Amino acid sequence: MSYFLPFITMSTSVENVVIVGTGCAGLTAAIYTARANLNPLVLEGPLPGGQLTTTSEVENFPGFAHGVDGFQLTQNMREQATRFGTRFEQALVTAVDFSVFPRRLQLGDREILAKAVIIATGASPRMTGIPGEKELYGGKGVTTCATCDGAFYRKMEVAVLGGGDSAAEEALFLTRFASKVYLVHRRDTLRASKIMADRAMAHEKIQMVWDTVPVEVLGVPEGAVSGLKVKNLKTGAESVLPVKGVFVAIGHVPNTGPFVPALEVDEGGYFKPSAGSQVQTRVPGIYVAGDCSDHVYRQAITAAGMGCQAAIEAERWLAEHEG
Ligand code: NAP
Repeated sequence: MSYFLPFITMSTSVENVVIVGTGCAGLTAAIYTARANLNPLVLEGPLPGGQLTTTSEVENFPGFAHGVDGFQLTQNMREQATRFGTRFEQALVTAVDFSVFPRRLQLGDREILAKAVIIATGASPRMTGIPGEKELYGGKGVTTCATCDGAFYRKMEVAVLGGGDSAAEEALFLTRFASKVYLVHRRDTLRASKIMADRAMAHEKIQMVWDTVPVEVLGVPEGAVSGLKVKNLKTGAESVLPVKGVFVAIGHVPNTGPFVPALEVDEGGYFKPSAGSQVQTRVPGIYVAGDCSDHVYRQAITAAGMGCQAAIEAERWLAEHEG
C-alpha cells in the first residue's frame, strides 16, 4: 500500500492525529490519544464544547448521581484532555484532501497535515425555514438555546417547536422564566422519552399545542418577535400564539459538509462508517465519532464511547503502520 511509504520521510510538522471538534466525542478522543502519547491537536469550531454546553442539567451521564451541568461536564473533559498534553486551536476545516498521505486539512487560507484524523464535528440545530425565522434569529426572539436565552423571557409567553427530548427539555427549562410555554408539535404524541414527556405534559405552565405546525414568525418589520402563526393540521385552522420568543427544537443536521465527497455520507448527511465498524471510514486512518455519524443514539455517553473507539483505532493504526 503505497500511501504508507511517506511515514519514513515525513517531516516533524506532520501531526500524528488531528481531532476535529470539541464536543463529548472529540474531547474523549483527545483524552485517549493524549494518554497514548500521540500529542493530539484538537481543532475547535464555532461551538466549543458542542451541544452539551447548550443543555442545562445532564441527568443521564453515568457517574453523576445527582446530575451535572452540561457546560461543566465538557469543561471537565477539556481539563482532563489538557492535563495529558492535548493542544487546542480555534480553526474551521473548510476542505480536505484524503486522497494523499499525509492527509491534508484546509483551514481557510492555511493547511495542516496529519497521519490520522478523528472527525467529531457534531450536528447543528435544524431550522423550520418558515418566513420570519431567519430574519428574527439571534437576539430578536428566535433561538435554538433555552439555556442561553431563556432568562430574557421573564414573565413572557414563549413557544417551543418540536416533540422530542430537546423540545421537552427546553420547555421545562423555560418554565423557570416564562409565564407560559406553548409546546407546538406536529403530531398528537411526543417523541420524547416517557420521563421527559410526562414531566412536560404535567407542568402547569406548559400548554401542549398538538397536530400543529408553525407557519410564520411575526414581527419582521418591528425587528422583534410579536407572535407565531400556526396551523392545525387536522382542522386546517390558522391562529396566532401571542409569544415574544420562539425556541426551535426540531432536531439536528450533521456537520459533515467539508468532508464530502472525501468521505461517504447517508441520505441524511451523516457519515457512513465502513461495514463492521462504528468509527472507521473507507479511508485508512480517518475516523468519525459522535453526532456527525450517529443518527440513532445521539447521547453524550454514546458520543464519548465513539470518541474512545476512534482514539483506540487511530492509536492501533498508527502503531501498526509506523512500527
Ligand atoms: P428528535 O428526537 O429528532 O426530535 C425532533 C422533533 O422535532 C420530533 O418530535 C419531530 O417530529 C419534530 N420535527 C422535526 N422536523 C420538524 C419540522 N420540520 N417541523 C416541525 N417539527 C419537526 O431531536 P431532539 O429532540 O433534538 O433529540 C435528539 C436526540 O438527543 C434524541 O436521541 C434525544 O433522546 C437526545 N436528547 C436527550 C436528552 C436527554 O436525555 N435529557 C435531551 C435532549 C436530547 P416527529 O416526532 O413528528 O418526527
